[in-house]
Amino acid sequence: MSQRITILPETLTNKIAAGEVVERPASVIKELIENSLDAGATDIMVEIVAGGRRLVRVTDNGHGMSREDALLSLERHATSKIKVDADLEHLLTLGFRGEALPSIASVSRFSLATRENSSPEGTEIVVEGGRVRDVKACGMAPGTVITVEQIFFNMPARHKFMKSAETEAGHVADVVARLAVSRPEIAFTCVSDDRELFRLQRSDLLRRLSLVVGKDSSRHLFPVTGEKGGISVQGFVSGPGLVRSGTQGIYTFINGRFIRDKVVQHALMQAYRGVIDRGRYPVVALFIELPPGEVDVNVHPTKHEVRFRQQTVAHEAIQGTLEELLGNSPWLISSAPSTPFALPVPTALPVLAVPPLPNVSQAHKERIAAAAQVSLQLPPRRQATYGEPPLLSDTAPFRPSAPPSERHSRVSDPVPPFVPESLPPEPTGYFSSLTIIGQFHNEYILCQSGSELVIIDQHAASERVAFQLLKQQCQGGSVESQRLLFPETVELTFSEVAAAERFSGELTTLGFELEPFGGNTLMIAAAPRMVARKAPVPLIRDILADIERFGSSAAFSDALESLLSRIACHSVIRGPHLLDHRQIRELLTRMDETDFAASCPHGRPVSHVVTLVELQKIFKRL
Ligand code: ADP
Ligand code: MG
Repeated sequence: MSQRITILPETLTNKIAAGEVVERPASVIKELIENSLDAGATDIMVEIVAGGRRLVRVTDNGHGMSREDALLSLERHATSKIKVDADLEHLLTLGFRGEALPSIASVSRFSLATRENSSPEGTEIVVEGGRVRDVKACGMAPGTVITVEQIFFNMPARHKFMKSAETEAGHVADVVARLAVSRPEIAFTCVSDDRELFRLQRSDLLRRLSLVVGKDSSRHLFPVTGEKGGISVQGFVSGPGLVRSGTQGIYTFINGRFIRDKVVQHALMQAYRGVIDRGRYPVVALFIELPPGEVDVNVHPTKHEVRFRQQTVAHEAIQGTLEELLGNSPWLISSAPSTPFALPVPTALPVLAVPPLPNVSQAHKERIAAAAQVSLQLPPRRQATYGEPPLLSDTAPFRPSAPPSERHSRVSDPVPPFVPESLPPEPTGYFSSLTIIGQFHNEYILCQSGSELVIIDQHAASERVAFQLLKQQCQGGSVESQRLLFPETVELTFSEVAAAERFSGELTTLGFELEPFGGNTLMIAAAPRMVARKAPVPLIRDILADIERFGSSAAFSDALESLLSRIACHSVIRGPHLLDHRQIRELLTRMDETDFAASCPHGRPVSHVVTLVELQKIFKRL
């Protein structure tokens, strides 16, 4: 009889458990800060070196541990937070699994120094790859200091998956910021490579929020508060004036714990139906409080997911509370800075000492140009292209008779006046030979082609034309850029700032010039010419939210087309827009210049044909 099965040694089971909780330096930080919060700390300091790859340290002034507890805390399933089954139903702490410390200690060089208030001295325990190397008394202030060095030194596969120091630092800062939002009454300091990223005094939620959503954005938030079915919903939400391309501005907390939950997200988006465009997301910080027994956080080791006991009740409470506020369109009623939610600018704003963005290297430019050649595979241009941006772009010259109110001039007008001579004299393609009937609803162009009625979505067409122009510019080296007369600032997440730094060369090729402006703020010095006169801030937000996920320049090049389509999308005027005959003619001409796959970059159709026969059938003539 052979024995195949053995019980794994604890160092190995800890390593396996670490696989679930410890993904990168930021996840270590999350676990350590949660422990500090559970220990009643009021002041928490986070230090990292090389984005946390070399060192992560969390220092708190919490209740600390005795020598015995400190040793026990490194054992698997050792916790002070629950004792019996029933405690799981009434969790008031962030932790309860007793897994974080042994997991982290099993994949790093780890040291725990801790002192209880009542004790004259502290205890320091040094662990290497899960093995205790040293236990000794040490002098220290009451509280706990945990130092994690060389994360994954004994897990090469994991080690490889860590990103650059800047990227990891961005993630760390985001995690700390998120936890700081969840507990405004706790002071937080975050230091990276001896540079203070931010120091946050105890404050209120709105001030804290300005750290993650930007202080400009936080001025456009509206307080929400309500209670339904025993579930209280509190926080701040944005109106239609402040949206994002993804869920990055959505912060939801259940009983103080940051979570990402489908039910919560769905309820939230339901409440925003009709308030913001489809495909856009609000900026929200929502604190949902309910009896601990009503929600199960023991779904995943990272505890980012939850399960509601009464899902429908939770959904209704969240949706209902938000709808009550959003239904009143508070953004219409009050935008004056004297509103109660426009608190003074926080005194403890983060100061992120971002090093200057490196200059674009020629290599970057060449890589992007090459990517444009390879991935776009444009047919050779049939005719000379127009240097001017497409018609419906804000940079497009308006007809001289256009009333001043139609102009969106943000910068002085550097665009040369419209030169009709630049148009080809003869209609040569399908679109330019159409007979223009007129415009419908200021959104559609109606044309005739023989016995067909051709309906063109002017927005989709302009976007496609802009996209084509951008592709051509990119192939020529870089997107045409324009310096802003009044540079604008944009506040971002720390990961997004890190991405801007990492891809600064590529971004320059896309026509952007971004400069660090302190804190998590960038200054937009130049933007693609097509969007320079429109608000470039939302575009920058969208682009950085996109590229923040990219691990490498290769990923950037792969996504070039979708990035260009983002720029194209932002370059055209949305919604109804009156066009005169000549503008329609110009658009049609440019459409012939464009490599039309009969769809805009988003895949929506650009034109639709109704035949005479179809009309005759409608009118029962056939
Ligand atoms: P959990 O948080 O799930 O209990 P951990 O492995 O994260 O598990 O921590 C184990 C135990 O160590 C905790 O239950 C707590 O008693 C103690 N501990 C960890 N960090 C601290 C800290 N910063 N201050 C005081 N006690 C701590
Ligand atoms: Mg814990």
